[in-house]
Amino acid sequence: MVQSTPSPDTTGTLARRGLMFILSSPSGAGKTTIARMLLEHDPQLRNSVSCTTRQPRPGEIDGEHYHFITHEQFDAMVEAGEFLEWATVFGQSYGTPKAQVKAGLKDGVDYMFDIDWQGTQQLYQKLERDVVRVFLLPPSIEELRRRLTGRGTDSAEVIHGRMERARSEISHWDGYDYVVVNDDIASCFEEVKKILHAERLRRARQTGLIGFVRELMQPDD
Ligand code: ADP
Ligand code: 5GP
Repeated sequence: MVQSTPSPDTTGTLARRGLMFILSSPSGAGKTTIARMLLEHDPQLRNSVSCTTRQPRPGEIDGEHYHFITHEQFDAMVEAGEFLEWATVFGQSYGTPKAQVKAGLKDGVDYMFDIDWQGTQQLYQKLERDVVRVFLLPPSIEELRRRLTGRGTDSAEVIHGRMERARSEISHWDGYDYVVVNDDIASCFEEVKKILHAERLRRARQTGLIGFVRELMQPDD
């Protein structure tokens, strides 16, 4: 219930519930790049740091890109119900820890999720109204292969596996609210920013509106 006079704050914004911004794509289509650009550009957005059992890639920092944990630790967290969702990808386990996100949403913090379609489905089933699902597609399969090779982080065998999987990941495109083709990086970034902006304006997320509108409708003295 709103108690005090609920006018917009000094930045002109009303109280708002946070949202869960899910960015998925076939591996190599550019979700990490776009996610990083969004996080740098937008201080209201925080990264949801997943746990994974895979090894860190060069340059990846524990606690920032992922929480790198053992299979035993992962299984114990599953057992204790500490994940909002989890999935097995390329034979490794990935999961979204629950605690931080649930508290943050209430305080109007938006979270970015770089997760696959399985995790997206699980989050949508649990928290449908908080979830915004965005899927990035590569402009072509040849370009996807070029990007995976150009990234220089994986062996030829791993790239072959990722290309195989990319085809099946692409088949889940229709489980998303928005689909953006990541051809030119700057245009893709602009489109994704627009989606985020519009979703923040959804009436149901603007929890401060009820009191604000009530105030606007007060009869004159
Ligand atoms: P993902 O996280 O989906 O696996 P990345 O963001 O790691 O993909 O991108 C894969 C590679 O493609 C990286 O080297 C990245 O710099 C490059 N890349 C991403 N988007 C574009 C784009 N629009 N044009 C050209 N290269 C891109
Ligand atoms: P990578 O090993 O390339 O970082 O990620 C491999 C795949 O796992 C990507 O498709 C990525 O979106 C997905 N992923 C990363 N974290 C999570 C998570 O917490 N849950 C789920 N379901 N997938 C994840």
